[in-house]
Amino acid sequence: MLGIYISVSMIPSAHEAMQREVSVTEVKRYSLVKPTLQTKFHIDFDWWSQIDHDWRVYLQSLLCSEHQQAYADANIDELIDWVDPETAEIQNVDGLRHILITHCARQTGFITDHTTLVDAVFRVFLANGNAPLSSTELAEKLSRPPDTIIRTLAGIHVYRGIRPCQV
Ligand SMILES: [Zn+2]
Repeated sequence: MLGIYISVSMIPSAHEAMQREVSVTEVKRYSLVKPTLQTKFHIDFDWWSQIDHDWRVYLQSLLCSEHQQAYADANIDELIDWVDPETAEIQNVDGLRHILITHCARQTGFITDHTTLVDAVFRVFLANGNAPLSSTELAEKLSRPPDTIIRTLAGIHVYRGIRPCQV
């Protein structure tokens, strides 16, 4: 007798089923759509810091000479409050990233014609406070072909955490 009963709690509600469908669609949309020249990119610091243990070493190498000296022995792992220029949201960011964005990346000569493409793109994002930019916009700033930029950024390898922005 017991075997013919189906507990109501075992049947997923329409609401649950709908939620599941929505999240599957979102994952697919993000991973299957190839970035275009209009796709906005940015430095995904959260993602980058998780997969690349040397991320701070690289950031530190970009400090201006003044800050290289000032922070040679100091602890710059501390978190500080920072206001996102896009959303006006207050975020916790580390001091190193903050110094780079607000000072070092704004010095003349931070980006030169000899800077490699990946480094140049990374430095543009630091200099603009990591505001999202498309390959077309990056091409204008760097005077390099947009096709070369999109090929580099949309390839299999993610350089220095530069990824498409999740919409
Ligand atoms: Zn500096």
